[in-house]
Formats: sequence, structure tokens, C-alpha cells
Amino acid sequence: MSSMVKCKECGGLNSASTRICEFCGNVFSVDGKTLVDELAELNQTFDKLKSFPNPGILDSFKNNAKFSMPVLTLVSLFLTYKINGLFSIPSLIFLITAIRSLFSKKQNLLGDFKSDKLMFTAQLASLYGLYSKDPTTNARLIQIEKEFKNINGLYKKSKSFELIAYIILLVLFIGAYLVPATKSEAEKVKDTILSESSYLNVTDSLLSNGNFVAAKDLIKNLSSNEIIIEIKSKIQYAELESKIKSAEIKMNSKDYDSAKIELETLLWKKNATDIELEIIEEKYYKDYIQLKSNLNDRLPDAYKVKVESEIDY
Ligand SMILES: [Zn+2]
Repeated sequence: MSSMVKCKECGGLNSASTRICEFCGNVFSVDGKTLVDELAELNQTFDKLKSFPNPGILDSFKNNAKFSMPVLTLVSLFLTYKINGLFSIPSLIFLITAIRSLFSKKQNLLGDFKSDKLMFTAQLASLYGLYSKDPTTNARLIQIEKEFKNINGLYKKSKSFELIAYIILLVLFIGAYLVPATKSEAEKVKDTILSESSYLNVTDSLLSNGNFVAAKDLIKNLSSNEIIIEIKSKIQYAELESKIKSAEIKMNSKDYDSAKIELETLLWKKNATDIELEIIEEKYYKDYIQLKSNLNDRLPDAYKVKVESEIDY
């Protein structure tokens, strides 16, 4: 550090620790500070600016925890209810972090930098005004100003990251808000049944016209097990019903032997594979044995067959 300073009025060389030129009486600084004092103050402010950290995008989320953590809590809550309950774990972590951030007295790095920067710029301007004609001091000030610009670059980077963090939060929020809810398996099954239930009416009308083949073809288009078992039951019932009617015709024409043989060969083939499907199929089975036993009751005793009971299903 130069220990001498050149007077801007007369050009005389003075000690840097004096505030009045010993050659012409020019006052270097109006508030009584010497160059040494002012440089010390400038360096003090500059040291504070130099402590500004090299920012990362994650730091922006941390620095704005009071805002970012509540938003992230909401985002993960949306996902908890729409996608998967596991999202409740991060939502709990974000919530705790959000609450903690409300009580923390963590300093605002960007805000501190901004006020230190104003102070530094004023101090530098004052020094330039008083000592720019002194080449040594001027060169020193230019050097400090250059270093300051690098640190100010970090500050600008931090501001950009802050903006990016806000955009990310906004996108996450809108995305989580708009993402469609995943349906549960039970809801999906219900939807399929609902969308395929119109096939039941089609089946009824095909069967009433005796069109068994077309009714069986319908099953290929279906994916709901409930609807499939109901249609299969309807078809099986209709087929057995037509055979019972044919046996009835034989009986009416007193051909009891043929009527008996036809009744004996009738058999319900069970399609249901689980209890839910059995409930659907069973009511058609019951209708079938009702129909069968009605006719059987009308046959002469010598020609009666053994009819299945409801328990046989
Ligand atoms: Zn002078």
C-alpha cells in the first residue's frame, strides 16, 4: 500500500494518513477521514461482499423456504391424493421444513448483499472523487472495482436461480394440480361394468330371436368378468330353456319316453370362478331348475327324472 498520496490541487506528495495538503492546505476529506481511514472502510464493506457464496439452484429453494416449502407441501399433497399415498412422506418433510423456516432467524443473503453493495458503491465513488488524480490510489481503486464486478456476477447468478426456482415451483404446482387422479382397481372395474352393461340388453334381444351364435360372439368384445359371466349365464339359460320347451312338446304329444330322455340329459355347466361371479350365475341356475322341475312335476310318475336342487350348484 502506498504510504504517499498526491494532492489533486498542487500535485504535492503527502502522507496517506494526513487529511490536509502540507503544500497548499487543500483538505482531502471534508468529514475528517484520511485516505487510510476511507480505504479501511471500503475494505471492510468489500470483505462482507466477498463472503457472498457461490450459489446453486437448491440454495434458492432453501433461501426461500418460507415460500417454497409450503408450495412443495401442497404439490406432494396433491400427488398423495391423486397418485399414491407414498407422496405423504415428502409432504410431511416439506411441512416440517416450512414450519421450521417460519421460526428461523436466518439472514436474507440477497437482501444483505444489496445493502452492502449500495454502501460499497458510495464509498468507492467518494474515494474516486477525492483521489482519482493520484495514480497509485486510482490504480488500487480500479483493481477493487474489478474484483467487485466478479462478486456482483455471483449475486446476479443467484437472482437468476431465484427466478428459476419460482418458475419450477409454479410448474410443479400447476402440474400437480392438473395431473389426473389415478383410479383404484375397484373404480376401474366399476367403470368397465358400466360401459359394458349395454351388452346385456343386446344379449337379451339376440336371445329372444334365438340368435345364440351372435350372442356368444358378443363376449369377445368384453373385458368385465361380471358382464361376461352374466351373458354366458343368459345364453346357457336360453339354450336349456329351448330344450325344456322341446321336451314339453314331446310330453304334450304323450311321447313321455323322449320327454324323459331329453330332460335327463340337461345339465347346467358352471362358469363362475369366484364367489362374486357365482352370485351372478346362481340366479340363472335357479331359474333353470325351476323351469325343469315345473315340467318334471307334470310328467307321469313313471317318467319323472331327478332334478338338481339349489344346493347342487
Ligand atoms: Zn496541495
